[in-house]
Order: sequence, then structure tokens, then C-alpha cells
Amino acid sequence: MKKRIQEKFKTLFGAEGTLYASAGRINLIGEHTDYNGGYVFPGAIDCGIMAAIEPNGTDLVKVFSLDMDEFVQFHLVEESIPEQAWARYIFGVGREIIKRGGKVGGFNAVFAGDVPLGAGLSSSAALESTFAFALNEIFNEGKIDKFELARIGQSTEHNYCGVKCGIMDQFASIFGKAGSLIRLNCKTLEYKYFPFNPKGYKLVLIDSCVKHELASSAYNKRRASCENAAAAIRKNHPEVEFLSDAKRLWLDEVRDQIPEEDFLRAEYVIGEVQRVLDVCDALERDDYETVGEMMYQTHFGLSRLYEVSCEELDFLNKLARKMDVTGSRVMGGGFGGCTINLVKDSLYDAFVNAAVEQFTARFGHAPKVYNVVISDGARKL
Ligand code: ADP
Ligand code: MG
Repeated sequence: MKKRIQEKFKTLFGAEGTLYASAGRINLIGEHTDYNGGYVFPGAIDCGIMAAIEPNGTDLVKVFSLDMDEFVQFHLVEESIPEQAWARYIFGVGREIIKRGGKVGGFNAVFAGDVPLGAGLSSSAALESTFAFALNEIFNEGKIDKFELARIGQSTEHNYCGVKCGIMDQFASIFGKAGSLIRLNCKTLEYKYFPFNPKGYKLVLIDSCVKHELASSAYNKRRASCENAAAAIRKNHPEVEFLSDAKRLWLDEVRDQIPEEDFLRAEYVIGEVQRVLDVCDALERDDYETVGEMMYQTHFGLSRLYEVSCEELDFLNKLARKMDVTGSRVMGGGFGGCTINLVKDSLYDAFVNAAVEQFTARFGHAPKVYNVVISDGARKL
């Protein structure tokens, strides 16, 4: 990838660009906790975006996407918003830096990536983070702090790409470190690195390649249930700002006052917040068996209590359990996408082969398989 980028840059612009990169991400555990003020636990992965970039002394931005085989140029003013979806991420990052009082002049860039698009690994955050990091170094002497760089990516999605996302993806992509996962408190934005070096295990994602229509309406309903449960608990315990602040016992106190459905949703969320903490403790002891068990518990919760799984994902999870895979759960919002699996090296081939074979036989299309290693996020190469 590096060579192709450098060669194209030379052909187009007759110079060597400086190389920057950033990464996609996984979330080990902590699902549907973000909007409840709880923890998420992501890490950057070994696939991402790489770009050669050089200021060009004008106010025109010229970018070539190798993967789309397309050249786009624009000025960094609102009227100049590009038509191409991929270019809007770069335009947006430039605009958001300028809106915050930063500087961005014209530049030349060539980029490519190897994060599968739309698979739940956040290729878009990798793209935003690469350019946010680079434009900070090139035009702002690195003065914009890392959290602000993540927010610049998030605002880009909100304002230029029509995606009202949280902060996790951009946070992981900017802050990611090889061999570490990062526990982020979505209420206070405090974060802490934990070691993740699963020697003798692999992390593998099995992509069901389905996306059920339910996702967005169900998401709004889940949020409403959580808010309803939190409001009921708050009457007894005014310190409960978000559902994640509540103790399990406090939820039991209001069981008769809220619909059973809201109770189950809240039961999942409160359990999930605790599971993130338990996984962090286990990682500090190098105890990957407990980590795996927690992943299964999360899957159970997402499937039976939060009800955001689907037949394809439950199938993959059940197969993992049957084959004694250490941990497995649906990753992301649900109703499709990937399962994330923690698999012993010795079991890896058998599991992946069985998953592909049996899933294909059952659903008529093959799942995709992505191996990931926890790696560095945004950086200059
Ligand atoms: P994801 O879950 O992977 O973030 P999104 O739909 O949010 O999915 O973002 C995918 C979009 O990001 C693509 O449609 C494209 O516009 C842009 N993108 C990601 N990776 C690349 C790439 N390698 N080259 C060009 N554009 C990319
Ligand atoms: Mg995205």
C-alpha cells in the first residue's frame, strides 16, 4: 500500500509526500453503554488508512483516492463541499479545524486503506483521524489536542456525512496504541489504557454480511427505554444522571413501575457496565478465560435482554460456544454486522472453517473473516 501511495503521489505531484496513517477499531466489550453514560472499551487495529500529504502553497486541496480511483479538488469553504462521499470526510476535517480557529492551507494528498467499508470496523474514523492528525501536524504545529482531533472527526460525520455518531470510533482511532485497549467513560470522558496481549489467542471477526432494516428505529426505542428506566430510578436516587449510574438493586426497586421491556433493557445496560470493569480486572491478571466468558454474557444480554441480535449472529455465537471458543459476541449496534471472537491459536483453523462452512450452508451466503491485532492509531510514519 505504501509503495502504491508514494508512486502515485510522485506521478501526480512530482514530489515525495509525508506519510501519515490511522486505524480502524474494534470494541472488546461495552455495547449500547455510550448513550447511557457508561464505559466502552475499544482499541485500534492493524488495518487503516495511509496517506501521503504535502502542503502546496495555495488554498486548493487536491486529493486522489487510490481505492476509488478518483481525483477531487476543493477549496475549504462551505460552498465548495465535494459531491463524492469519500471526499466529504477530508473536506469536513479541514472545515472543522478551521471552524475551531485552526489553520488549514491547500495541500496535495494520495491515500488508500484496508479497513473493509461499512463492516463495523470504522473505516470512516480511520480516514478522518489520518487527515485530522496530519493537518494538525502540518498546519498547526501539533497544537490541537488529541481529544479535539477526535471531536473534529465526530463533527465531520455529524455535519458533512449525515451520521450522528458518538465519540468512540474517532477516540479509538486517535488514541489507539499497540498492545492496549482503552476504557473510555462516556460520561466524564476519562480514559485509561489496559494491557491487551492475548498470547496464544487470536481476535477474529466473522462478518455476517447482513444488515437488518430494524436497526435505526430499534435504536431509538432502546434509548427511550433506558431513559425511562433511569427516570424511574432517579425518583429514589437523585444522583442517577444516566442509567449507568444506577446499581442493580435500585433497578429492582422500580420493577413494578416500568414496563417489563424497559426493565430488561436496563438490566442489560447495568450488567454491561459491570462487565467492562470485570474485563479490565481480568486483563490486569492476564486472565483471558474470564474475558471470554464476559463476552458470552454480553452476547446473551444483547440477544435476550436488549434484543438487538438476529438469527445470523446468534448462529455464529452458538457455534463458537459449541466449539469451545474462548469468547464470542455480536459487536456494534446489532441486527447484523460482525461477531468478535477470542480464539485459541490451536482452535483457530477449525473454528473459522466451521463458521464459514456452516454459515454458508444455513444462510446461502459466505460470511467474511477479518483477523485483527490491536495496534497503533493515528501517527506520522
Ligand atoms: P464504516 O463502518 O466502515 O465506518 P461508513 O459508512 O461510516 O462505514 O464509512 C465508509 C465510507 O468511508 C466509505 O463509503 C467511503 O466514503 C469512506 N472510506 C473509508 N475507507 C475508504 C478508503 N479506503 N478510500 C476511500 N474512501 C473510504
Ligand atoms: Mg463509519
